[in-house]
Amino acid sequence: MGLKGESMSQQVRVRFAPSPTGFLHVGGARTALYNYLFAKKNNGTFIIRVEDTDLERSTEESLKMQLADLKWLGLDWDEGIDPDTLKDFGEHGPYRQSERLEIYNKHAQELISKGKAYYCFLTDKEIDAQREEQKSKGLPLQVNSPYRDQELAQALEKIESGEKPVIRFKTNPEKKTYVVDDLIRNQVNFPSDMVGDFVLMRSNGMPVYNFCCAIDDALMKITHVFRAEEHLNNTLRQMMVYEALGFALPKFGHLSIILGEDKQKLSKRHGATSCHEYKLRGFLPEALLNFIALLGWSHPEGKEIISKKELCETFSEERLNSASAVFDETKLTWVNAMHLRALSDDQLWELIKPLLNNEGISLPEDSDWRKQAFELFKPYMETLTDAIELFRPLSKGEFKILPDSKEALSWESTKSVFQKWIEILNAHPTEALSEDDFMSAQNKVKVDCEVKGKKLFMPIRVAIIGKPHGAELKLLVPLMSKETLIQRAKAALESI
Ligand code: GLU
Repeated sequence: MGLKGESMSQQVRVRFAPSPTGFLHVGGARTALYNYLFAKKNNGTFIIRVEDTDLERSTEESLKMQLADLKWLGLDWDEGIDPDTLKDFGEHGPYRQSERLEIYNKHAQELISKGKAYYCFLTDKEIDAQREEQKSKGLPLQVNSPYRDQELAQALEKIESGEKPVIRFKTNPEKKTYVVDDLIRNQVNFPSDMVGDFVLMRSNGMPVYNFCCAIDDALMKITHVFRAEEHLNNTLRQMMVYEALGFALPKFGHLSIILGEDKQKLSKRHGATSCHEYKLRGFLPEALLNFIALLGWSHPEGKEIISKKELCETFSEERLNSASAVFDETKLTWVNAMHLRALSDDQLWELIKPLLNNEGISLPEDSDWRKQAFELFKPYMETLTDAIELFRPLSKGEFKILPDSKEALSWESTKSVFQKWIEILNAHPTEALSEDDFMSAQNKVKVDCEVKGKKLFMPIRVAIIGKPHGAELKLLVPLMSKETLIQRAKAALESI
C-alpha cells in the first residue's frame, strides 16, 4: 500500500550505492530492485551513488559494467551517473564518493571543532599491542586512544611536523541504547558501548565507509535505506555520525541474506552470481528481475511469474521478509522459460538473432517458417542460448558429416538406407515433408531395406544432420526443404 501517515508528505528518495569492484552481483541487483520498486511505488526518486573510496579495488571498467547491467535489467535511475557517458546528472552530486573528499573533510573538521572527533596518532603496532592485551583479558577489542583528549593545537603541531594521523569519532562515554526501527526486522537495539572510537578519515585522507555513507545519505536527502543485512551492524556507527552532525535519520530496512542451495551464503563457489553471467547464458532481464524479487519478498497473491510492471504495482515494503532466501537456479531457469515462452515470435527472434549470427547459423528469412520453427522449439527453450543447438541443424551453411558418424557409415546396410531415402525424397510431390510424411518415409526405408532400430535411425540422422545423435528428426525435417534434404543425403552417400 505504499507509505502510511507521516512519511507520505516527504518526497521519497532512495539510493543504490554500489562499490565498483567487480561485476554486479545478484544480491546487489536485488538491493537495487527493491529500492527502485520502493521509489516507483511512492513516486519517489531513485539514485545511484558510487562508493569508490577503496581506490585500489575500484575500477572504471567495473563501474561501467555495473551500470550497464542495471540498465539491462531496466532499473533506470533519476539521479546519479549516466551509464553511457559516466557523467553525473542530478542536483545532489557529485555522485562518486572519490569526488566528494572535500565534503567529508569539511564535516570531519566540523566534528573536530565541536569536540566530537579527534586526530589520533596511534601506530598500527600500538593498536595491535592494545588488542593483544584486551584479548588476553577477555575485554572487548576497542581502541583506547591517548589522543582522545589531546589539545587541538598540539595535534596540529604534530601534523605540521609531518605526522599523518587518522581522525577518530569520539564516542560518548555515557551509555545509551540506539534503536533502529528497521522496516524489515522491526526494532533492533544497539548498546552504544558496542563500539569504541572508530576511524572516520584514514591517514591517507580517505573517509571510511560509515562516515561517507552517513554524510552522503544525509546530504542527498535519502529518506529510506534498503540494503544488505551485512550492513546492519554498521548502522550503529552511522547513527552516531548522524547524531553528532545533527542530521535527521533515514528509515532503514536490512534485507534478508541470500544463501546458495547448500544453505551457505551465496558466493562465487555456487557458480554464476553476477548478472552479467546470467545475461551471457541467455537469461532475460525481466526473468532475472522476477526471480530476484522473490528472494525476500512475496507477491500478495503468491504469484510466481510477475512482469516488471506488475512488480511496480504490487510491491510493498511490508511484504519484505527477513528470513534468508535460497538462490535456486532450477527455479530461475523455470521462471526464465515462462517469460521466454510468453514472448511473441518477433520479440524472441530479435533476441536470438545475434546469438545465431555469432555462431554462423543462417536461416530462412520467412516469417511462416519462423512461426513453424518456434512452435516446435519454444517448448524446448529455457534460455535464449538453447536456440543455438536447436536451430544449428537447420543452418543453410555447409553440411558436414561429423566424425562420430563413422560407426553408422561402416554398416553394410547404410548405403541402401541412404539410397532409399534419396529415392523417397525425389518422389515426394511437395517442397517439404510434414511430420507424418517423414514418419511414413522412415517406415518405408525400414520395410524396403529390412533394417530397424539403430541401423535405421542412426544413418537417417547422419543423412539429415551429419551426426548419429541429437535433435528430434520429426521436428526438424518439416523445417527443411526437400532440396536441402536431398543434397545432404547425397553428400552422406558419397562419404561412404
Ligand atoms: N557500497 C556498499 C556495498 O556495496 C553499500 C552499502 C550501503 O548501501 O550503505 O555494500
